[in-house]
Amino acid sequence: MDISYIINHLGEDRDEYYGAVAPPVFQTSNFCFKTVDEMRQQLKKELEIPFYTRGFNPTVAILRKKIAALEKTEDALVFSSGSAAVAAAVMNVVKSSDHVVCVAKPYSWTNNLLSKYLVKYGVTYTFVDGSSVENFDKAIQSNTRLIYLESPNSLTFEVQDIAAIAAVAKAKNITTILDNSYCSPINQNPSDYGIDMIVHSATKYLNGHSDVVAGAVCGTKERIRKIMAEEYMTIGSIISPQDAALLLRGLRTLEVRVKRSSESTKKIIQFLEQHPKVKQVYYPFSENNPQSALAKKQMTDCGGLFSIVLNAENTNQVENFCNALRYFLMAASWGGYESLIFPVCALAASKSFENPLPWNLVRCYVGLEDADVLIADLKQALDKI
Ligand SMILES: *Cc1c(COP(=O)(O)O)cnc(C)c1O
Repeated sequence: MDISYIINHLGEDRDEYYGAVAPPVFQTSNFCFKTVDEMRQQLKKELEIPFYTRGFNPTVAILRKKIAALEKTEDALVFSSGSAAVAAAVMNVVKSSDHVVCVAKPYSWTNNLLSKYLVKYGVTYTFVDGSSVENFDKAIQSNTRLIYLESPNSLTFEVQDIAAIAAVAKAKNITTILDNSYCSPINQNPSDYGIDMIVHSATKYLNGHSDVVAGAVCGTKERIRKIMAEEYMTIGSIISPQDAALLLRGLRTLEVRVKRSSESTKKIIQFLEQHPKVKQVYYPFSENNPQSALAKKQMTDCGGLFSIVLNAENTNQVENFCNALRYFLMAASWGGYESLIFPVCALAASKSFENPLPWNLVRCYVGLEDADVLIADLKQALDKI
């Protein structure tokens, strides 16, 4: 199915709502029936038809179809945050006394889920350096049920050989989950490489407008059905119909946004790699990145998120650079229309991060502004170091 069809038409049953081009927001918690028998019949299919919005809502249903198709999977669920989606997917696979192998340095709250939260329920974990498949093989125990990947992973953007790791997992009947937020379905489809479940922070590229926090899990009908019957309905971290409509609107421009962000980033990386005040660039498609061949093999393009290590002598100089930027906003998150920076030196006071990262590292995200304008902004700020 082509991306244009998915984005513009898939799941939109326009005859059902007066031919409205933009689908209505079904802002309702419940749906009513005319007879007891009709209610009885419908209740049997509670999770597949409009009955109660925690289970099924028509606006959310359109979104589920589009996200599933974009990831080339049979079905998807949408959650009220990326972290809720990650937690639901992971918790659906593991039970007490199971073991998880996870790539090192995953997203901070994924790290928290494994290293702080699930240990309370007797789930153990091993973080492994994801640069070699052997590391995964070695970490697998007899009770390993899940391999969790993030390729590229947060802050330093190392990639993992997705197909090779998925093959190792399949041979041992271990489920695989990959956080594909960085690439979005436009730049990478992990299902092509045999990954069982794909999770997203839809807050980032999928929504793309910095106005909704949401998440998604994609997989086979069977797996999604199981998550729905367990974590989704029980914990209830669903997306609201309003937010689903905003996310649908965001998806209309997913392809153009991701392409623009990816293209501008290439130009900006070229500028930064030449600049004397930039010591190192962490970006998977960089010529200097030892993993660039693997990255180019499994990603059709590279996203707009990367990190730089500044040639600074102290935190003050890093702060001078950050404070001088005019177009890049200083904020958490990424994937929206606006360019952002996140300096590691701002993390010092945070208890939720135990950070081995260099103090002079600044994560950057390139939004939809003109690349030359952003380069000029970076240039004047680098001069302040
Ligand atoms: C932001 C992010 C998450 C968490 O998503 P939220 O929508 O903030 O809950 C998970 N994984 C990655 C890679 C992220 O960037």
